Amino acid sequence: MDRNIKQEYANGLLRYLNDSPTAYHAVENGADMLRRHGFIELKETQPWTLCKGGRYFMVKNRSALIAFILGEGDLAQEGFRIIGAHTDSPGLKVKPGACTVTPDGYVKVNVEVYGGAILSTWFDRPLALAGRLAVKEGRKIQEKLVKIDKPLFIIPNLCIHLHRDVNDKGGYNKQTEILPLLSMKKEGMEKGDYLLQMIQEETGIEKSGIVDYELFFYEYQKGIFTGIDNEFISASRIDDLSMVYAGLSALTEAEVHGEGCRMVAAFDHEEVGSVSAQGANSGLFLHVLHRICKNLGMTDDAYFQAVANSTSISADLAHAVHPNYGDKHDPENRPVLGGGPVIKYSASQRYATTALSAAYFVDACERADVPFQKFVNRNDIPGGSTIGPALSGLTTIPTADMGAPVLAMHSIREFGAVDDQIYTKMAFRAYFS
Ligand code: ZN
Repeated sequence: MDRNIKQEYANGLLRYLNDSPTAYHAVENGADMLRRHGFIELKETQPWTLCKGGRYFMVKNRSALIAFILGEGDLAQEGFRIIGAHTDSPGLKVKPGACTVTPDGYVKVNVEVYGGAILSTWFDRPLALAGRLAVKEGRKIQEKLVKIDKPLFIIPNLCIHLHRDVNDKGGYNKQTEILPLLSMKKEGMEKGDYLLQMIQEETGIEKSGIVDYELFFYEYQKGIFTGIDNEFISASRIDDLSMVYAGLSALTEAEVHGEGCRMVAAFDHEEVGSVSAQGANSGLFLHVLHRICKNLGMTDDAYFQAVANSTSISADLAHAVHPNYGDKHDPENRPVLGGGPVIKYSASQRYATTALSAAYFVDACERADVPFQKFVNRNDIPGGSTIGPALSGLTTIPTADMGAPVLAMHSIREFGAVDDQIYTKMAFRAYFS
């Protein structure tokens, strides 16, 4: 790939990561990208009228996104070719009863840990706040996305002098030690109202109209390229927004003619098990596949044929071998940064990959002239999972679990190689072609 095109892709990815502090923003920015490429938004609550050759997308809960292109081919025989990923990332979510004031006059925000965040990485970094509000306007409830992109919060470390074993002991108390500091108590501040007061001041949305909220902290400092040749990327939410971005980029560039349907599905709540209305382990995805087929006038039998003729990729990041913890990996399967996308295997089906589903991803890599690597856990370290097993179990569609290799997965700042992001996008393009 041309150097300028590579850099343009990397810049676009970094922009997407920086502009998408929550799943809501990731979906909104993804939808904008699709609209710019001629995709038409379908509302779940309205009738759909689909045409072969058309480009469409739908949004669920403002935090999940399913986009597709209908080819001119016989969908029952050609099936769906799907790339799945997730929009959510581990972090700190504001609890109801947002603020707590200490007897010493510190105003702290009461938080709940979302997913498997590495909590130590959240300390001593200016934090900003984003998410969505349910706002009452007259008798109507409106959703409003908010992004207060200012360094208003911090979780300060306890100094080492009062905590001599900090470098030896592991872990933090999730209830008491990770509450971000907002302010000192000030004249006129009413109990429990500080955060809404601040939101009103920053956004102009009347706090009396805010019925409820889903708000997450994020790192104020933006992601950057780093390394001697800028070959690395250090940014928040590479897991899994980089795979969402790669999927959407490949889909917007896909040329679909006599084939079936090409699709990208980005789900919420992967980091907490995928069971929700907008998660991969729900009825959502099956509803969409069924609705597309029925809308095209297909019989139920033709729908089941289409599903049986489909393939899917579950795109979620992989663990590269760590320079300081090389023994955490299997001795024979050792993916590294820059070595290309990683196919993930698990005999216990924590990844959905089979020999055949791996083979069609390998075929895409080979056609794109992209290197690929393989990952399997050590038997004594169970590792993580993805949307792959849930999605493939629900739909019965064979699925390959893969992802770009990274370090520091679930840190507030994750770390990967730019080349792996570009390779992944190239492989996705080949998969769709
Ligand atoms: Zn992930």
